[in-house]
Amino acid sequence: MIGAMSQLFATIARNLGTVREQIATAARAAGRAPEAVRLIAVSKTHTAEAVAAAVAAGQRDFGENTVQDALTKIPAFAGQDLQWHFIGHLQSNKAKFIPGNFAWLHSIDSAALARRVARLAHEQGATVDCLIEVNIARDPAKHGLAPEHLPAMLEELLRDLPMGIRLRGLMAMGPYPASEAEMRAAFASVRETRDDLQRRYALAGFTELSMGMSGDYREAIREGSTMVRIGTAIFGERDYRQ
Ligand SMILES: *Cc1c(COP(=O)(O)O)cnc(C)c1O
Repeated sequence: MIGAMSQLFATIARNLGTVREQIATAARAAGRAPEAVRLIAVSKTHTAEAVAAAVAAGQRDFGENTVQDALTKIPAFAGQDLQWHFIGHLQSNKAKFIPGNFAWLHSIDSAALARRVARLAHEQGATVDCLIEVNIARDPAKHGLAPEHLPAMLEELLRDLPMGIRLRGLMAMGPYPASEAEMRAAFASVRETRDDLQRRYALAGFTELSMGMSGDYREAIREGSTMVRIGTAIFGERDYRQ
């Protein structure tokens, strides 16, 4: 048992080291500082022991995509100064679990959801940093707003911007399967959309780009990603049977 546990800790520490090196290399290749890219370790479906192993290796940001899975882990790390990121599709009846548990919400897809999270956060005296999820491929099977629907959503929200949330930027999933050129073009379009919205609506803190996963984070960083969401390359393959 002790052997299995120390092996888990060693594997995760090694994987984290490799990912950090790759992040630094991709950032420098783009003339960016490695510290400008925040690594979010996506621990969904993995155990609290796996999270503890990453924490022991210095990791502080973690991503989860269901409230149910996340709440089996978050309380175990109370007081350890971790930041939890909700990266999955959020049903409005689960919004009440965000404030107090998650510092960041990456998947705002309507003004109504933003207002709901804001009201719940404000009631608790919390503030949630929010990203709007953009569906760059306009794929109806995927979540998020098509780029052309972002202005209307933001205008609706900005008419009476609620307290309890901060609008921090955009989140997107890269195309898959895709060539390197296709990935980079898609990520560049997300960056341009953020720049455009930031200027058009004078959004001071709208600086973040959450893009890049195990298979495409190097390309995303080359195109300006400020947050990469990495699961498999740190924790290994997911086991959905658990
Ligand atoms: C699972 C997931 C990730 C991490 O994916 P990997 O390919 O395992 O790195 C990133 N973002 C979202 C939204 C996810 O659901």
